[in-house]
Amino acid sequence: MKLILLGPPGAGKGTQAKRLEDRYGIVQISTGDMLRAEVAAGSPVGKEARAVMEAGQLVSDDILVRMLASRLAQPDAGKGFILDGFPRTVPQAQALDQMLEEKGLKLDAVIELRVDDTALTDRIAGRFTCSACGASYHDTFKQTAKIDICDACGATTFTRRADDNRETVVARLKAYHLQTAPIIPHYAAAGLLRVVDGLAGIGEVSRQIDAVLATVR
Ligand code: ADP
Ligand code: ADP
Ligand code: ZN
Repeated sequence: MKLILLGPPGAGKGTQAKRLEDRYGIVQISTGDMLRAEVAAGSPVGKEARAVMEAGQLVSDDILVRMLASRLAQPDAGKGFILDGFPRTVPQAQALDQMLEEKGLKLDAVIELRVDDTALTDRIAGRFTCSACGASYHDTFKQTAKIDICDACGATTFTRRADDNRETVVARLKAYHLQTAPIIPHYAAAGLLRVVDGLAGIGEVSRQIDAVLATVR
């Protein structure tokens, strides 16, 4: 199964992608996670991306397309994948089409998590993530079952992203509406777009995604 999860920052892409990994045995490919790893490692890409990410803007298509191409070339991606955070611009969507065509691969669905902007600021401001496994939690909407212990892996350290603050969210939402939302008609025209109500609770969103996937398999 080859999927794209599409939606603005805080829509729930990472949360749902992690669940789909376990359920369908496919890998989550999160370009945000990959970029944060580059920043943490202090690599040339990380050095270039850091300020752009902290300002809530998009890193260049050139960097992202190269990064995704090398990730898709790894053997684990052959069984299927969930793209989380890519493509985010029309040129990225076109580059992805070309990459998949060259490999003889076809997407099964593009799932849009539809939400409204007002919900997102609260979601992002309350987000924290397990430092060991990347599982995503929320101060209000998804606490760990035991205080300060990751449900998924048992680790006890968590991180909050530098760009998860109310000021940066405004810039990130603007980037989404201006640069990312224009890719939606591209996938609608290809007959791949499926819309899910991202404002529902986490479990209900998962059920809606499963219902969609039952129709495309
Ligand atoms: P969110 O989960 O809030 O949607 P991500 O973790 O996907 O955010 O991305 C964090 C930041 O990384 C983005 O604001 C952007 O600066 C950068 N980024 C991630 N993916 C891409 C992409 N495909 N193109 C350009 N920039 C990206
Ligand atoms: P994205 O990857 O799209 O930026 P996340 O999956 O990281 O979004 O979710 C953002 C925050 O909102 C996290 O703290 C997560 O626990 C929480 N969250 C995710 N889905 C929902 C939902 N359906 N309802 C309420 N909170 C949610
Ligand atoms: Zn964990």
